[in-house]
Amino acid sequence: MNTSTSSSAAAPKALPRIAVLATGGTIAGSAADAANTAGYQAGVIGVAQLLAAVPGLDAIAQIHAEQIASIDSKDMSLALWSTLAQRVNDLLASDEIDGVVITHGTDTLEETAYLLHLTVKSAKPCILTAAMRPATALSADGPLNLLNAVTLAASEAAAGQGVLVAFNNRIHCARDVAKVSTYAVDAFQSPEIGALGWVQDGRVEFQRRALRPHTVDAPFTAAGQWPMVEIVTSYAGVSRAAVEALVAAGVDGLVVAGTGNGSIHGGLQQSLAEAAAKGVAVVRASRVGSGHVMHNGAAKDDALGFVSSGTLSPYKARVLLLLALAAGMTDTAGLQDAFDTY
Ligand code: ASP
Repeated sequence: MNTSTSSSAAAPKALPRIAVLATGGTIAGSAADAANTAGYQAGVIGVAQLLAAVPGLDAIAQIHAEQIASIDSKDMSLALWSTLAQRVNDLLASDEIDGVVITHGTDTLEETAYLLHLTVKSAKPCILTAAMRPATALSADGPLNLLNAVTLAASEAAAGQGVLVAFNNRIHCARDVAKVSTYAVDAFQSPEIGALGWVQDGRVEFQRRALRPHTVDAPFTAAGQWPMVEIVTSYAGVSRAAVEALVAAGVDGLVVAGTGNGSIHGGLQQSLAEAAAKGVAVVRASRVGSGHVMHNGAAKDDALGFVSSGTLSPYKARVLLLLALAAGMTDTAGLQDAFDTY
């Protein structure tokens, strides 16, 4: 699938060289019949077949394709995150590659996108895309999403914007995007904030750009040892059992998906405060799905030893906590600064 990257003075302007890294997901899914959009196997179709289903790709970019994994993204692992981040960094560091597209399952796409947003050390475009319908389905959405992702990766406008998600014609910032539907083709939104722009019929338009530092301006790496960071949830009648078991298992960090503005059931809050006193990093996020969890100062967060997640969902707060702890940021003030910055 490698294509020539050589050019001569007489040749027309060479097309951008885009690496397409496939990891599996529904975009590479296959079902027994075309009307089946739920009972399929994810991650079984190879990258060459994915690309062959996209007419006109050759007119947009020179494609270099690699199969990094063939998984349902519900099974994404920290080890695979390290492998993927390393490969993206190696490719983007090369003079032979102008941008990267990653095909991924929708289930954990927002986590992988944010991880790469903070660990890819390049200003070249890095785009994730996916599909809600398997490749075998009537009106499969994968081929157009892939075409749009390559169009975006090949565009100069995508450079320096951090990791982006191209899905259903919209362009989302990796930090903001979330899966918001279990079945609809328009499955991704950036709650409250909205998409950065759109891509359609070969045209890319950004309406705005993300302000927080990312990629080359973020100090994180996915290359080292991963700490143990887990998520617990607050709800009516929640017990202390999960936190106590995780502390006994040696957890390094806990994110709590609190109710409302990150409020936590009394007993659970007490168990988290005890965990924090033992050196476990505790981040307060919200299970609501939009809005922010503001640091509530000396009376609460500081007294309990908690950090607040700001606008990060519990899943993205976990990504940042993993990276921050791996980078040696362990004190509460330093962690709060990381959450206020990235
Ligand atoms: N379970 C699939 C995955 O995340 C769902 C999808 O891709 O839409 O790999």
